[in-house]
Amino acid sequence: MSDFFLTLKKIFELEKRKNFLNLSVSGGFQNFTNLVQSKLSGSGIPPEIINLLVSSLAMYDQLSVPDRKQTIDLLIKWLETDPTHNYFILEKLKGIFDFQNKGKISDQLPRQDNGLYADITTIRGIGEKNSKIFHKLGVYKIYDLLRYYPRRYQDYSKLVQINKARYGEEISLIGRIVQPPLVRNAKNRKLKIIESAISDDTGIIRLTWFNKPFLTNQLKQGMSIIVSGTVDVYHGRLVINNPEWERIDSDQLNTNRIVPIYPLSSGITQRQIRSAVHSCINIWGNRIKEFFPDKLLLSENLCQINDAILQIHFPKNEDSLKCAQDRLAFEEIFFLQLGVFIQKKNWTQARAQKFTIDDDSLKDTLRTLPFELTEAQKKAFHDIRIDLQSGRPMNRLLQGDVGSGKTIVSQLAVEIITRTSSQAAVMAPTAILAEQHFRTFSDFFVKSGKLEKSEIALLLGSTTSKERKKILDDLMSGQIKIIIGTHTLIEEPVGFRDLKLTVIDEQHRFGVAQRAMLRKKGESPHLLVMTATPIPRSLAMTIYGDLDVSTIDEMPVGRKTVKTIVQNQYDRELAYGKIAEHLINGCQAFIIYPLIESDDDDNLAVMNEYKRLSQKVFPNHSVGLMHGKLKPAEKDSIMRDFRDNKFEILVSTTVIEVGVDIPNATVVLIEGANRFGLAQLHQIRGRVGRNDKESLCILIPDNDDALENERLQAMTKTNNGFILADYDLKQRGPGEFLGSRQSGYVNMRFANITDINLIERCRSQTMEILKNDPNLIKPENNLLRTELTYYWPEINSN
Ligand code: ADP
Ligand code: MG
Repeated sequence: MSDFFLTLKKIFELEKRKNFLNLSVSGGFQNFTNLVQSKLSGSGIPPEIINLLVSSLAMYDQLSVPDRKQTIDLLIKWLETDPTHNYFILEKLKGIFDFQNKGKISDQLPRQDNGLYADITTIRGIGEKNSKIFHKLGVYKIYDLLRYYPRRYQDYSKLVQINKARYGEEISLIGRIVQPPLVRNAKNRKLKIIESAISDDTGIIRLTWFNKPFLTNQLKQGMSIIVSGTVDVYHGRLVINNPEWERIDSDQLNTNRIVPIYPLSSGITQRQIRSAVHSCINIWGNRIKEFFPDKLLLSENLCQINDAILQIHFPKNEDSLKCAQDRLAFEEIFFLQLGVFIQKKNWTQARAQKFTIDDDSLKDTLRTLPFELTEAQKKAFHDIRIDLQSGRPMNRLLQGDVGSGKTIVSQLAVEIITRTSSQAAVMAPTAILAEQHFRTFSDFFVKSGKLEKSEIALLLGSTTSKERKKILDDLMSGQIKIIIGTHTLIEEPVGFRDLKLTVIDEQHRFGVAQRAMLRKKGESPHLLVMTATPIPRSLAMTIYGDLDVSTIDEMPVGRKTVKTIVQNQYDRELAYGKIAEHLINGCQAFIIYPLIESDDDDNLAVMNEYKRLSQKVFPNHSVGLMHGKLKPAEKDSIMRDFRDNKFEILVSTTVIEVGVDIPNATVVLIEGANRFGLAQLHQIRGRVGRNDKESLCILIPDNDDALENERLQAMTKTNNGFILADYDLKQRGPGEFLGSRQSGYVNMRFANITDINLIERCRSQTMEILKNDPNLIKPENNLLRTELTYYWPEINSN
């Protein structure tokens, strides 16, 4: 007991000599509190006094220097006079801390140590040159490296003894080299064979490598190594050919444990990354400050950040790895939601220009349409109209099944903006769709005389540089009122004179981050995103949590549902017969395949089938070919020709899937239908049934699997995309449903974006935090805020 008091006294005196810089214990006094607590409890000192002492140490880092001096002086004085009895002296600490709590402390926010965000070149062994390699991996700062997670693990912790090695098994074993490596030439002379052997207490096993002469310099007699590979037999003796091997390091980083395997880039080895991560963890492993509130960790049963980082890299065992993964999964969804909510709040608080249209002008416009809007379209447009005149930026998701008529609703929104001198941008996920929008928008705006031809432009990746320059200039000058394009609109340095509305079509290909980038192109522009992918509510909350939602849940009148049948692959001729009937009536057909080219499944690939279909099956009809490897310009011209009825059948992959509108097409045949998700099949099916004629969708699976077939039967029973998406989610799971398209979420390493339970947990925790601190500005949330900006660099949470 008295020893500990002596130690304390020495530490405090050291602190005094070091000018109260909180350098006398490693990590600062805040890291010292647990020890003090445990040493003093049961010492007879009343718990409230111990608490006072501990909390003054915890707060020490945030005190001004004069207050630190006062604190240390008090503590030394206490230790110099019988500390177990004369503890009343510590009561005086209260004075210092009460004063602090009144005001000053909030200036001294809890912060992560800046060193955590230092450049990786501060790590020993990483210089200018190899830092470039780390940059390729996305690692710039120390913290990036700590969060550079292994791709998988190799469990070397379960080693085999040599006498237990069996032919054909894949094993790892440790032994000492008992035979220095020998090189011999194989019979064909070209091959150099290196032979060695290792032994443990139980036996000897031979090791053989081919064409690695440099190993003779690396493998030394007596050296302990770990090898892993498949056990083979040569001349009756066990051997491992071309084993992976590592020297057993003193810190056993690479062996005899669950070893992390990192994603690599050229120029760096596993061993180098491992040791860089390891030395980082040695320094930082216990010094990252926890940013989650204790309450949250406790109620969600999550491990501490330091534990998580250590265990994700060098897991003690499967359980501790699982704990780390759980925590990191929670973080991913938590910060996604926190970011989305804060973003939503920022946007709803932002001001935006008001845009209105009077009832008469609106009626005039609607009168020029060849159809009357459905009630659902009217309702959705009403929502948008209110948003645009609210003085706050619109953030609206327009959801509606394929063919429900979202485009016209967006056109009406664009019209409200372009009646003034402001500009609108329309972004589509593919060149084909952008082209199509360009045509429908031109029809709507130019033919009616609302705008000049020169006031609408199309910008694609393929736009020539001369045209491009003109477009960019005209956008800056305000000559162009509506720009339609693909990703180019955000990726390139496209500047606007006065962008006030952005429309994003088929939202599911864009993520939250892209939305944020688009906003920056204008001065708080209004935003309308449109999607035909029906998403269950809880999911939408995460992905579209920053958006208000309008749903078009009604099809235009007279729209016939597309009759859907599942046809056995051996009855393909019947399907061709049905297609021919449609062609004879002057309609057009799609025939869709899952692959472009294939050696194995050539009857599922457009390239192979195109020949057969055009030459053998439909020799008297004109057939076009379309797939994703064509240049955008080629795709566009094929689509245009098909639309203009220059040929009757389009053989294609799913590049036509999203949004393409060819009203005269009435039949679609989908080969290998079992390979697609229902939501996707539904999208493809949506290419037909776009006029008042009977349309047909024929699904041909490429196997006879009863279960697959049952799934496809769902398509025959409903034309409702929401029901199908739900079914898909249950049957095939989330991966298929959202796919890798969900850009913005590719960084989810641990969380499953459709784990509804996890989403709900994160949601209630983010709500709890934001309820008490809506702007995340309270000192106790400062670390959380820092971490949020780490996860979401583009978030500006001011
Ligand atoms: P999506 O919602 O899939 O984007 P579109 O906007 O492309 O659907 O509309 C599909 C077709 O329906 C277009 O040809 C469009 O002109 C037509 N359409 C839109 N609204 C109506 C309506 N109220 N009545 C009849 N046809 C409509
Ligand atoms: Mg559309």
